[in-house]
Amino acid sequence: MMTGHKCWGYGQKDGPSEWYSSYPVAQGNRQSPIDIDSKQVIFDPCLKPLRVSYELCTSLELSNNGHSVMVDFKDVDDKTVISGGPLEDPYRLKQFHFHWGTSRGCGSEHTIDGVSFPCELHLVHWNARKYRTFGEAAEAPDGLAVVGVFLETGKEHAGMNRLTDALYMVKFKGTKAPFKCFNPRSLLPSCLDYWTYPGSLTTPPLCESVTWIVLKDAIRISEKQMEKFRRLLFSTEEDERVHMVNNFRPPQPLKGRVVRASFKV
Ligand SMILES: [Zn+2]
Repeated sequence: MMTGHKCWGYGQKDGPSEWYSSYPVAQGNRQSPIDIDSKQVIFDPCLKPLRVSYELCTSLELSNNGHSVMVDFKDVDDKTVISGGPLEDPYRLKQFHFHWGTSRGCGSEHTIDGVSFPCELHLVHWNARKYRTFGEAAEAPDGLAVVGVFLETGKEHAGMNRLTDALYMVKFKGTKAPFKCFNPRSLLPSCLDYWTYPGSLTTPPLCESVTWIVLKDAIRISEKQMEKFRRLLFSTEEDERVHMVNNFRPPQPLKGRVVRASFKV
């Protein structure tokens, strides 16, 4: 998703507080993530239910891009799309990835009333009705739609095992492994109630092109499954080993934006 080749990361010298020097939009008016303040949220009865049509085998590869672990999808047609919710068009799934911390006290990017979750899943979609390529969509204000799912630790998540059991294959930055026929529907909670607001990518280039759909209900994975994420590395096989943890950007200023909820409390 990088348009340039500037170095960025989550360390002291290249972390989120430094990103603005190469990506000035980091200080823009619709940056993500945010803290969702439940008292400021507006219930919008016009918001439609989110429809998820992830029916066929369109997943391709699992990879470690040095910032997260990602699964990418064939996005040449509308076989794996979301629609409804706050969206005017269907949006095609391009990839999903995760953000997590060193322990259960931190890791998510969005927070709810100031509280973090141990991990957050992002399913990144693009508007192929209006734009020709993912890159073109990423530059447009209504180009992308990202579904955010909080992960809590507790009981083991059966649908997550295929993924967590494959993570050892992409331990190092720049490594890939085939990952066919994985349906990410299994990673969504049964209730699809959501919050929505206009925002951005949470990693450089931080484009302000994302309609965020953050699900109210978290999914649960075991501490053992979570530990497998923390064993991944930011570093290549040749570098000094640095564990891939705390790969999250903290909440950004709301700057007058309104967060709408599809549900009443
Ligand atoms: Zn993300």
